[in-house]
Amino acid sequence: MWSFATDPEFQLELDWIDDFVRTRVQPLDEILGSQWNIHDPEFVRLVRPLQAEVKARGLWACHLGPELGGPGYGQLKLALMNEKFGMSRFGPIVFGAQAPDTGNAEILARFGTDEQKRTYLEPLLANDIVSCFSMTEPQGGADPLMMRTLAVRDGDDWVINGEKWFASEAETAAFFIFMVVTDPDAESPHRRMSMFVVPTGTPGIEVVRNYGFYGEKDDTHAHLRLTDVRVPDSAMLGGPGDGFLVAQSRLGGGRMHHAMRTLAQATRAFEMMCERVVSRSTKGELLANKQMVQEKIADSWVELRQFRLLVLETAWLADQGHDWKALRANVSAVKSIMPKILHDISARALHLHGSLGLSHELPLAAWLVNSFHVGLADGPTEVHKVVVAKEVLRTVAPAAGMFPDYVRSTRLEHARELYPEAAPTAEPSPEPAAV
Ligand SMILES: Cc1cc2nc3c(=O)[nH]c(=O)nc-3n(C[C@H](O)[C@H](O)[C@H](O)COP(=O)(O)OP(=O)(O)OC[C@H]3O[C@@H](n4cnc5c(N)ncnc54)[C@H](O)[C@@H]3O)c2cc1C
Repeated sequence: MWSFATDPEFQLELDWIDDFVRTRVQPLDEILGSQWNIHDPEFVRLVRPLQAEVKARGLWACHLGPELGGPGYGQLKLALMNEKFGMSRFGPIVFGAQAPDTGNAEILARFGTDEQKRTYLEPLLANDIVSCFSMTEPQGGADPLMMRTLAVRDGDDWVINGEKWFASEAETAAFFIFMVVTDPDAESPHRRMSMFVVPTGTPGIEVVRNYGFYGEKDDTHAHLRLTDVRVPDSAMLGGPGDGFLVAQSRLGGGRMHHAMRTLAQATRAFEMMCERVVSRSTKGELLANKQMVQEKIADSWVELRQFRLLVLETAWLADQGHDWKALRANVSAVKSIMPKILHDISARALHLHGSLGLSHELPLAAWLVNSFHVGLADGPTEVHKVVVAKEVLRTVAPAAGMFPDYVRSTRLEHARELYPEAAPTAEPSPEPAAV
């Protein structure tokens, strides 16, 4: 059964989230710093009561599936919820659904030992702590096979040395999940790395510098140096060599949620664009009456809807039992088009607002820069396009002969074999004429 309808009971929840985010959460974006700084007294004063309301409503931290102890909303509902959360910088954390904690919680729930779950997962799901996922290294992030940070066994411990890059929220996190090389000589390059859960404050972890980018409130992406960081064997998450397996398992759902939050940002830019063009006049008429402006509105509307449908279809397929590996082409397609949607729509909105659009009065320049962020984090666009193309071509067989079967003479031959009684026609037109 195919349907675009939302179940009415869940629609009530979505409506509640929509109103709550617009009226109560969005204003926090104006007055608070980093949304991960849970130790800020203002965060405690302003955000905690909102989180309590969300918990009372039963909408807190809904991302874990039933097999991992969550409510089991499924990917489609989570996507629709994230579309609402993404209307505000603070939306995700108010609902206990902020990256990278969601992905980290997922892998702790899936691969963690009982002790790891008690120590890290429980307080993480309660947002009593926040966390950091650290894989990328300064010499290159797009290719995980270039990672060099090395953990070496020493008795019952592992000793880790190396450098990590753009480790978001390293300064506020209570623990890191480090992906490091444990077996550089493993035959399969994808069995060379493992994951470790390491509490912050472990001797040898140094923040070299924090980086930020235009539009962010604080610099929260850390260059880390790890010098003889000693951790027990029990700090490993998953088995030795399971690094890629664990990392992959956190990406599918997370990418869909991120896509819907990005869609929300692009939709806000679109709403601003629409209001602007029906409000501003030049040369005796509204901007909205000019055809080149109408083209921008039309293109943006179509692109938003195309993107939304692709994400929702992918989430729906996941709910039908397709695992993320089987949905690789869909997930990478979503990831590869997401930056362009945000880029093009926030650029058009900025442009149509003129000087105001470029100024700090509007968030459009920040969202434009954010489009580059979403085109990098979790892998650059080019890499995802390669995945789409490879997946699409994987089952395509080459032509059997010199010329493909779809040349006109061959098609005609097949048609005559099938319908020998048909009267010979004049030269057929190469393609059916448009009606
Ligand atoms: C805001 C932000 C937050 C992040 N947070 C985290 C985090 O918390 N933890 C973490 O581990 N990492 C994090 N990252 C790092 C992110 O995963 C890397 O930026 C990303 O993988 C790209 O790596 P790089 O920046 O080293 O770029 P590079 O690997 O140097 O790539 C640069 C460019 O080269 C091109 N390129 C790369 N590979 C290919 C290819 N195969 N084909 C064609 N062109 C290619 C692309 O244009 C790409 O943008 C974050 C990044 C950003 C921007």
